[in-house]
Amino acid sequence: ETLLGSLGKSRATFISAEETTGTTFDDFAGQEYIKKELQEIVRILKDDEEYQDKGIYCPRGVLLHGPPGTGKTLLARAIAGEAGLPFFASNGTDFVEMFVGVAASRVKDLFAKARSFSPCIIFIDEIDAIGSKRGGPDQGGGGAEREQGLLQILTEMDGFKEATSQILIIGATNRLDILDPALLRKGRFDKIIRVGLPSKDGRLAILKVHAKNKYFTSEKEKETLLDEIAEQTVDFTGAELQNILNEAAILTSRQDLDFIGQDELAEALKRQKGTFETGLEDVTEVSEDIKLRLAYREAAIAVLACYYPNPHRPFKETDIHSVNSKPNMQYIEPLGKSFLKKSDYVNRIIRACAPRIIEEEMFGIDNMCWMSARATSQASSDIEYLILQTGWTAFGKAFYKTKTDLVPNLAMKLECLKDEYLRFATAKCRSIIKENYESIETITDVLLKKGEIKADEIWEIFEKSTKISQPPVPD
Ligand code: ADP
Repeated sequence: ETLLGSLGKSRATFISAEETTGTTFDDFAGQEYIKKELQEIVRILKDDEEYQDKGIYCPRGVLLHGPPGTGKTLLARAIAGEAGLPFFASNGTDFVEMFVGVAASRVKDLFAKARSFSPCIIFIDEIDAIGSKRGGPDQGGGGAEREQGLLQILTEMDGFKEATSQILIIGATNRLDILDPALLRKGRFDKIIRVGLPSKDGRLAILKVHAKNKYFTSEKEKETLLDEIAEQTVDFTGAELQNILNEAAILTSRQDLDFIGQDELAEALKRQKGTFETGLEDVTEVSEDIKLRLAYREAAIAVLACYYPNPHRPFKETDIHSVNSKPNMQYIEPLGKSFLKKSDYVNRIIRACAPRIIEEEMFGIDNMCWMSARATSQASSDIEYLILQTGWTAFGKAFYKTKTDLVPNLAMKLECLKDEYLRFATAKCRSIIKENYESIETITDVLLKKGEIKADEIWEIFEKSTKISQPPVPD
């Protein structure tokens, strides 16, 4: 064999039909509509003739797109399992080498192998590595080489049209935006399915799937505990949820306990968040000075959240152990913003100023740090959105996508109004912080002593010393 000969072989892993049957749609939880779509494809794959009579043909390619860890690979395996078909697992990065011609011959080799096993499934994870836009800015090095690989995939997919071979190609990516449009044309990846982050119900369902082989004191207790975790894991992926349960099981066995309890789950969640948000394993080493800053910041955010509760996103708790440029206050998932009112939005802007104002008040204008700059930028961009895109302000009723659309006169008006809003929001935020200074101090003390505080306790402290008065809002 020549050098190119062996280099040109595909590196896909072959999984026989017997092995694929281990994975089914039951393993994937949440986002039921995705399963419904895919179940239909499985039926077409299995019962080809009946569908052919009806003039229905199987899609050649299914593209699953969404963030990593949301179960795209799992779904691809489940399609193979449900249809009882062998599976070739490959990765877009496997094809590309620096030698010209290698990618194309690897693609050719993979499809040739697959044809001899047809009907079967080819899975290409991270398909963007080989299928990004030709000549596009995201292409990186090896452009020509990759392009040949992509062309070969297109040729192979088109080749099926005549051939009787049944091969379903499943691609996965989290960069749908950079894929070459030719891949998405009819007869190629013409079924595009988004696999997104799970909702609260979805998270609960995923946790239940992964809790099946784990021990809890009772079914009822399991239900309650998993529900709590589902509530606190907004934006977590299926893979991260699986990790939490696994970590909790490890902690349980480390302590020689028989059942997973609330403490183990809480600890596992913290660990998962640690790696998820900061990449720091042990963040208890935060210096006293930074702790104080973080505690004040969280306390100020908490008090603002009590003063102007967000009807769509009540807050949950805070934890100052983690050092993060983002606040640690947890908000419960929103119900949807269709009924968000202008006043809710303005309150949100006022709340967004809290990290800045508290730093200014407690540490002085020359001692503010990056956290407060981030708060200012958040508040500014919220205001800009309010002015340009809602039609709710004195600016007018029109919608502007960005401020670059504005004629100079309007641009000037935008800046003035923005400034007015920002002055109003910071002044209001400052007066709330001053009025509720007592609550802020108390919450800060608790945070410094215990490292965290729950929403109930925050409310209790706030209600004891509150003075609420509603201000007029500028138009
Ligand atoms: P992706 O391919 O999207 O990066 P994976 O399929 O590799 O994600 O997900 C990794 C693991 O996370 C899966 O094997 C599975 O155990 C778990 N997982 C992810 N999403 C889900 C889900 N919706 N339901 C059940 N488990 C999930």
